[in-house]
Amino acid sequence: MSTAQVADVIIVGTGLAGLAAAAELADAGRRVLFVEQENAENVGGQAYWSFGGLFFVDSPEQRRAGIRDSHELAWRDWQATAGFDRDRDDHWPRQWAEAYVDFAAGEKRAWLGRMGLKVFPAVGWAERGGAGADAPGNSVPRFHITWGTGPALVELFTRRLAPAVAAGRVRFAHRHRVDELIVEAGAVAGVRGSVLEPSDAARGVASSRTTVGDFEFRAQAVVVASGGIGGDPALVRRFWPARLGTPPRHMLTGVPAHVDGRMLAVSETAGANLVNRDRMWHYTEGITNYDPIWPNHGIRILPGPSSLWLDATGTRLPAPLFPGYDTLATTEHILSTGHDHTWFIATQKIIEKEFGLSGQEQNPDLTGRDLRKLLQRAKGGAPGPVDAFTRRGVDFIVRDTLPELVAAMNALTGENLLDYERVHAQVAARDAQLANPYGKDPQLAAITVARKYLPDRIIRVAAPHRLLDPAAGPLIAVRLHLLTRKTLGGIETDLGARVIAPDGGVLPGLYAVGEVAGFGGGGMHGYRALEGSFLGGCLFSGRTAGRALHATL
Ligand SMILES: Cc1cc2nc3c(=O)[nH]c(=O)nc-3n(C[C@H](O)[C@H](O)[C@H](O)COP(=O)(O)OP(=O)(O)OC[C@H]3O[C@@H](n4cnc5c(N)ncnc54)[C@H](O)[C@@H]3O)c2cc1C
Repeated sequence: MSTAQVADVIIVGTGLAGLAAAAELADAGRRVLFVEQENAENVGGQAYWSFGGLFFVDSPEQRRAGIRDSHELAWRDWQATAGFDRDRDDHWPRQWAEAYVDFAAGEKRAWLGRMGLKVFPAVGWAERGGAGADAPGNSVPRFHITWGTGPALVELFTRRLAPAVAAGRVRFAHRHRVDELIVEAGAVAGVRGSVLEPSDAARGVASSRTTVGDFEFRAQAVVVASGGIGGDPALVRRFWPARLGTPPRHMLTGVPAHVDGRMLAVSETAGANLVNRDRMWHYTEGITNYDPIWPNHGIRILPGPSSLWLDATGTRLPAPLFPGYDTLATTEHILSTGHDHTWFIATQKIIEKEFGLSGQEQNPDLTGRDLRKLLQRAKGGAPGPVDAFTRRGVDFIVRDTLPELVAAMNALTGENLLDYERVHAQVAARDAQLANPYGKDPQLAAITVARKYLPDRIIRVAAPHRLLDPAAGPLIAVRLHLLTRKTLGGIETDLGARVIAPDGGVLPGLYAVGEVAGFGGGGMHGYRALEGSFLGGCLFSGRTAGRALHATL
């Protein structure tokens, strides 16, 4: 079967990276066909569900908060965090990282601003590091939250594409799953796949995979924008890096089921080189969603620094593995304990100020751009979604006293791993340090530093207090699971987003953007991320591919 070209460019996937590529092509008058396995409800992919956190460097919001950031500092942080150490596989990722930091410190904010982006003025401080000046982590707060969270970010692009959609230059083949890339005379010439049965599933809900037909579409070039592997636990386990220990037996899933990673193998079969597949970015603070949207749905707590973090056996995690400091080192440590879960011990006072939940639906005030609701965050009381989790979440235990709390924690796991006397000794030792405004506990010292940053002091970091102070109570224990999320490796690409073949040459006709390309190059984050750089990586790589294609076609 041979078919005529249906568009200048086929884009596989309607996530943020695909939308960003299409926006450039559409503005330049090119014809685009999106081929997407889900229904029209799902345009925006994961980005719609996201918190909309964006990594900007030396932004007006940072400057207004007295943060002195710079390209130099950000690039230093990036390199220390990425830890690039592979000759061949880090060749393009290093160059993408450099280009991306230039973008984040340069035109990124103004470019998005021209499209209508607004950001929340208080800049968040994710991945604080803590292991030293030359170790991983953000030296300063850089996490800028989109006003309207993920849906508002997606809307910037659907709005930009609307005239081309109306004119028929951008079209969508929904419920079309690509199973094969057509390769002719050494170049990618189109896609083949299965038509999936119609689905009226709501956004994010796993849809049927029953096929009702085949399809074949051709174009001058194909852009793979299909996302990572986080929705397929078997793939996550298969590529789990040995350096992090044995893959967890139990993990929650932090992404919809369509993040299935199938296009990686499809692209490899067509001649793409896959690199850095053992690099992934999962979270250690996952909680079971009591109201799941996708299978095994977990939510990430975006924690402030004050909760006492205990492993499954009741031993405090070592410094600097405090909540929100070093995701990968914490993952490695947790897996070295031989157990998959850990515990936060907090007070009501900590929960109220410090528990954010990642995801647009968990932040109705920011997502709904509702100032009145937002102001309630500063007034105290747990935000509605956090309060709902404390009441309904299976991982939350609320008790007035520590003996009751520890007994309930043991009852929840059914394993009796926690010895009350040991837990009490650690809590009491920590609390005793609060008799003076100084002391030897590194976590309390870190909290003091965090509170020097005004937005943290006002809305993010609770005033240090004794966990056993009844006035701060009740006590709350949260059982935390590992939660899958981001894929840091993938399809190797050059700086024009062209796919690289195993021999190091370009595979003509094929481009890759977003998470499937490790956000650019096949892994621009290296081993670890500074956060807010995933959405940004989709925007930057998508834009790059769109511009490069327009220049070459
Ligand atoms: C809850 C949540 C919160 C997040 N918060 C943040 C944040 O604050 N900051 C940040 O930087 N990042 C965040 N992220 C990560 C970020 O949203 C994603 O990494 C990014 O959106 C991935 O975009 P993408 O376009 O590469 O892929 P996706 O959004 O996964 O889209 C890929 C699309 O391709 C389709 N597809 C896949 N295979 C095929 C096939 N064979 N045929 C046809 N179609 C196919 C899929 O159905 C999907 O629609 C968050 C993610 C989640 C889930």
